Amino acid sequence: MAKEICPGCGIELEQVETPTHAYIGASPSCWALHTGLLARQYEGFGALTPIRVIDAYAVQHHGIAERRAIQSVNAHWVALYLQLEKGFTGEQVNVALQRVLKFANEFVWLEPPTPNGTMTIADVLKAGNPEQQANAIENYARDIWNAWQGHRATVLKWAARVEQ
Ligand SMILES: [Zn+2]
Repeated sequence: MAKEICPGCGIELEQVETPTHAYIGASPSCWALHTGLLARQYEGFGALTPIRVIDAYAVQHHGIAERRAIQSVNAHWVALYLQLEKGFTGEQVNVALQRVLKFANEFVWLEPPTPNGTMTIADVLKAGNPEQQANAIENYARDIWNAWQGHRATVLKWAARVEQ
């Protein structure tokens, strides 16, 4: 089987035939791991997870500098901040993101850092039970949060407008 390298997280996996996301910059095989994790969560494995997976994943898989990708990265970057530094729940994040997206036309491309985090979704999938998985998701979110700190001023700017 041929291998492919994910343009977001850099993981090398066997190629799959399934489609990838339209603007989240993941290889099809990496995207399949992500959807597999979501499926596992829906089935009840990892119901304890307080941190959303999608925010770290979408920031790490920044895609290319086009409108939808820029909007996605900025919005999920704010969502990471609100969860990790402000203790927002997933529901509170959803409400906040509706406000963030009202000024999406002001979003700018955020240059991805090198390295773009040290963890991948594959590390989260190694968890053997829901508690380990919740911890792995939080570690993954913090890993991406730390890697992208060069854009901290941007996230604080958007978050200040959300909190008004
Ligand atoms: Zn990836």
